[in-house]
Amino acid sequence: MLPQTVDPSRLAEQGAIYRDRLSLAQLPRVRELALAGDEAGFAVQIEFCCDAQRRVRVQGSVAGNIHLECQRCMRAVRLAIAQPLNLVAVWDEAQLRSVPADSDPWEASDGFDLHALVEDEILLALPMVARHPQGECAPPVSLATADRADRYRPFANLQSIVRAAGNP
Ligand SMILES: [Zn+2]
Repeated sequence: MLPQTVDPSRLAEQGAIYRDRLSLAQLPRVRELALAGDEAGFAVQIEFCCDAQRRVRVQGSVAGNIHLECQRCMRAVRLAIAQPLNLVAVWDEAQLRSVPADSDPWEASDGFDLHALVEDEILLALPMVARHPQGECAPPVSLATADRADRYRPFANLQSIVRAAGNP
């Protein structure tokens, strides 16, 4: 089971490997965005190791599906997340500068919240604006409203009232 609070250095020395599934209840910042009914959660695989330079590396993946509200048609849009993890733990600026280009820095601490890390990675993988692919949206609500507005002509009676007033 994936522990929540970890000591990255110790796990790297142990070469710890975790395979687990986190529910949305364990990922509150992701749950805030997800539409109701998303209960499957995310499959997480995380491996800690020390590299030749004695850096703490965190590798693995986060994968799962999430339903968000499409910002074009307001219906649910399903997004498949498959985010690779390739992180180097950094405790200070000197370490931050030595992070290889193929990895992302991860600001670590001795009592680090691993669930929050998984959340960060899912949030990173989400698009800025959730939308169905072009052409796959439900008809926009505004069109239906426009259609009704066309049939309902609020001034249609005005002319007859004016006529009535002019011809007593
Ligand atoms: Zn849509």
